[in-house]
Amino acid sequence: MTQQVYIGLGSNLQHPLQQLQRAVDRIRQIPQTTLVAVSPFYGSTAVGPGEQPDYVNAAALLETRLQPHALLDQLQAIEREQGRARGPQQWVARTLDLDVLLFDNKQIETERLQIPHPRMTERNFVLQPLLDLNPDLALPDGRRVQDLMAMLDHQGLWPL
Ligand code: ADP
Ligand code: MG
Repeated sequence: MTQQVYIGLGSNLQHPLQQLQRAVDRIRQIPQTTLVAVSPFYGSTAVGPGEQPDYVNAAALLETRLQPHALLDQLQAIEREQGRARGPQQWVARTLDLDVLLFDNKQIETERLQIPHPRMTERNFVLQPLLDLNPDLALPDGRRVQDLMAMLDHQGLWPL
């Protein structure tokens, strides 16, 4: 059975745009999985404490026969390939973040995997690229992405 999955991509280190393009190429190689569409890329201001460079964000729609944790394994392998390029002093730096946002209509609560991604509803840089991919998209609980996005501040996000 093929399942529709939405992935969030983000990077704010070491040529973020290239990091995302490379990640998209690697996602195409995930077994039992088809990359259906990639959203436009956005720039976004980093949220949270401390000074951080701006992010590049996007979303992708996949069709996969993998189970959720198997897909997460694949995405984390790609993060590892690209994520720690600069040696041990930078090991906390994130050059690539790949999140499973939605997996069909599943709701999953394990230590390794929460779906829908718990913070996606508060993040314009997640919701806007999702809307670009599918304006009618809704969460498993029925909330529409369009309505969630309308409640958020649109600042700190710009098309690239
Ligand atoms: P964040 O994405 O919140 O910045 P990380 O990318 O460092 O944080 O991920 C930390 C952990 O989040 C991972 O070890 C992973 O097991 C877990 N996780 C839980 N739910 C998800 C999800 N839906 N997609 C990706 N990772 C997830
Ligand atoms: Mg993550």
